[in-house]
Amino acid sequence: MADEQQCIFCNIASGKIPAKSVYSDDKVNAVLDINPASDGHILLIPKKHVMLMAQMDDELASHMGMISKQLSHSLIRSLKVDGVSIFVANGPAAGQRAPHFMLHIIPRKKADEIALAPPAVKVDSALNTAAYKKLAVSLAKLTGKEPPSFDDKSKGEEKKDEKKSEPKSESKQDAKPAPKQDGKSDKGSFKSSLDEITDFLMGGKK
Ligand SMILES: [Zn+2]
Repeated sequence: MADEQQCIFCNIASGKIPAKSVYSDDKVNAVLDINPASDGHILLIPKKHVMLMAQMDDELASHMGMISKQLSHSLIRSLKVDGVSIFVANGPAAGQRAPHFMLHIIPRKKADEIALAPPAVKVDSALNTAAYKKLAVSLAKLTGKEPPSFDDKSKGEEKKDEKKSEPKSESKQDAKPAPKQDGKSDKGSFKSSLDEITDFLMGGKK
């Protein structure tokens, strides 16, 4: 497919574009980000061209999860970092810039300046409960399980998460993970095709 031949991340994943690969197998390639948030910042890239997480089959999705666990563990062991952030920009609204799904594994140190903490905002509790119900029903459908019974226990769950975080640096951080290389790609058509896929995925629910 033309899309895949032009996709920088397909070419990085396959090794056609050289990168510092720390791990590779038949499904994924894990390379160091050339614009890292911190030393050792890994991009785990599926070799199959998918734009969004939901386009991965279950086998690939679980493989990504399993490998990210190993990568995370080895970052902690080898670089003696204090923690690891695992980050995905899934869709343009989430800050995705590249037309190829990738998972960021970012080594963290105490008090580093990497702003990945989402802001805790006050939400309307009725809206939050409505979101909870929609989500639970949709997930039950997707996974073939029984939805939870919605009694009034769900009230009062909105109280937690009072902690403050700094929303200011958020947009900077969102923009960060997308490497500069994709400057050449046609962002307009990438964005509209992503939007089409998003619409398609949305079509599955009411
Ligand atoms: Zn690709």
